[in-house]
Amino acid sequence: MKILVIGSGAREHALVWKLKRSPEVAHIWCAPGNDGIAQDAECMPADLSDVPAIADIAGKLKPDVTVVGPEQPLVLGISDEFAKRGLSIVGPSREAARLEGSKVFAKEFMQRHGIPTATTYGIFDAPVDAYTSLCEVDWPVVVKADGLCGGKGVLVTSSPDDATAFIERLMESRDFGDAGKQVIIEEGLSGPEISYIVLTDGEKFVPLAASRDFKRAFDDDLGPNTGGMGAISTEDLVSAETEKVIQEKVVRPTIAGMAKDGKKYKGFLYFGLMMTSSGPKVLEFNCRLGDPETEALVMRMNFDLAALLRGAVTGNLDGSTLSWKPNVSLSLVLAAGGYPGAPKIGAPIAGLGRTGADCAVFHGGTKKEENVYYVSSGRVLNIAAAADSMAEVRSKVYGAAKEIFFEGMHYRSDIGKESAKAVNRVAQS
Ligand code: AMP
Repeated sequence: MKILVIGSGAREHALVWKLKRSPEVAHIWCAPGNDGIAQDAECMPADLSDVPAIADIAGKLKPDVTVVGPEQPLVLGISDEFAKRGLSIVGPSREAARLEGSKVFAKEFMQRHGIPTATTYGIFDAPVDAYTSLCEVDWPVVVKADGLCGGKGVLVTSSPDDATAFIERLMESRDFGDAGKQVIIEEGLSGPEISYIVLTDGEKFVPLAASRDFKRAFDDDLGPNTGGMGAISTEDLVSAETEKVIQEKVVRPTIAGMAKDGKKYKGFLYFGLMMTSSGPKVLEFNCRLGDPETEALVMRMNFDLAALLRGAVTGNLDGSTLSWKPNVSLSLVLAAGGYPGAPKIGAPIAGLGRTGADCAVFHGGTKKEENVYYVSSGRVLNIAAAADSMAEVRSKVYGAAKEIFFEGMHYRSDIGKESAKAVNRVAQS
């Protein structure tokens, strides 16, 4: 098989790393990739916002399967463009990707199909109506921009002043452009969060192992939200019983609902769930694999990912051979100084050769010049490993992190520290 991976971050590096281990894979391209990914795949220059140009590249390379990492090309319709040209791709159509591209679309979809989610106080086109609604809500509330804001379009708050200021930024100063044209104000839920990702052909689905990402910048879930500072996947993150509930109440109705609405969903579908005392509720959908969840998940994939992807595009989606071993995996982001604000770029990275075979080091934001890698964006590297226990995997990953250095580097020291068992307790209570 020849495979084209679209994207340029550590998630795509992790996909390439796993695909490279398949006996069936003869060649891997990554468009655009990055200098770290170039160690494992042939990188092709590409602009992720130029869908026809990416389809031109695929037309020339003729991969057996293309798999898309980031949301942008999916929301822009890359799957439709590939389909038009007879090229196989794992990823939803532009219409189906609206589940991620528009929170209003997703909310109305969930309401129509009875999929459990936070109660909505309102969906607003006019700021004045949004401000007024705050007089009649229970606090905390959550204010969400409709469109993609790079993880910055959601505020959970108990302060009417902060909610008002956030609405003002979204709807009046338009800090995120058209993404803030509409806002949702909804009930603030509480409970542990789970990332639950499935691969679907529009009817059947194959679940991946459950995972959890850590979104706040600093230890103990303090500091600003980021794209994700690390992730875990463990055998017992959700019990079999809870997983059944997630599949029956959330996954199946979503896939069936999209098909019923004439927007059959094909590809990876990510459910961001809060495990509340009244069961799992959907916080968000993503139309792709998560980052940094993917980096943790590939370490536990005891199966051939290339064969699974081929099954998804040939109508033979089959999860019967999927097994997840060892029991625990963890991915840790080494971030640039200043991240999640403006990252300090340009620092040389030391110690990349010293991390050993126990871990994989995926490149997210690096550039190579004369054999030295330099920091080129906020989430610089992702160290991932798997083991039989959390203590063991933490020792592998944090041991490797100590070998690496660049000026301004920061990372969380508590990924995986909290007991994963707490999730089941809350989810089943
Ligand atoms: P989203 O992009 O909708 O997943 O929101 C980003 C983050 O905001 C989530 O991972 C949650 O931590 C938080 N969040 C979103 N919606 C809610 C909600 N209704 N209640 C509590 N927290 C939420």
